[in-house]
Amino acid sequence: MLVLSSPSGAGKSALSRRLLDADPMLTMSVSVTTRKSRPGEVDGVHYHFIDPARFQAMAANGELLEWAPVFDHHYGTPRAPVEAALAGGRDVLFDIDWQGTQQLREGVRDDLATVFVLPPSVAELERRLHTRAQDSDEVIRKRMSKAAGEMTHYAEYDYVIVNDAFERAFEAVRAILIAERLKRERQTGLSEFVRGLIRELDQPAG
Ligand code: 5GP
Repeated sequence: MLVLSSPSGAGKSALSRRLLDADPMLTMSVSVTTRKSRPGEVDGVHYHFIDPARFQAMAANGELLEWAPVFDHHYGTPRAPVEAALAGGRDVLFDIDWQGTQQLREGVRDDLATVFVLPPSVAELERRLHTRAQDSDEVIRKRMSKAAGEMTHYAEYDYVIVNDAFERAFEAVRAILIAERLKRERQTGLSEFVRGLIRELDQPAG
């Protein structure tokens, strides 16, 4: 489970898309949200857009792995698709905030790698929010004023990337994913593999 968090506008969504394109073993966790879709967002792809009553029901029934209020809406991670992907040997990428990350950390400590993405500057953060051109000025102002609060949580993450150049930031997240997969305890079948090598070495030559 690989989590990417950042204040909105730091470039996390673009990084996620690039990572998914580059890595066939990675699946995106598609969250549910009570916010309205933005132009260009597709239901079931970017989010599952649901109403507050449905959200409450999912939370109450334990159908969400984590959930949290973010800005004026609720966001949550449906449990079943994540469990299915992990059971099928795939890795799962999460674009969730620090509150959701804390909940995942409490639940599944060993199988989680967390990355916080910082913008290179406030000016750049604002520029990215404006060029996205999907939100009203008031929404952008709200997001800017929340950015400081979100950034104070960077220290809770395993890795921190300053997204000053997109390709470099992408290579950094990809390197993290590869290194995390290579952790000894995550490699299944390793002891049998090594035992096989040793057995072969022990056989008398001939
Ligand atoms: P946006 O409205 O820009 O798509 O997302 C706003 C924030 O909500 C982002 O920081 C994003 O990471 C966070 N978010 C999206 N989905 C989830 C989720 O399922 N759980 C939590 N805790 N946060 C989420």
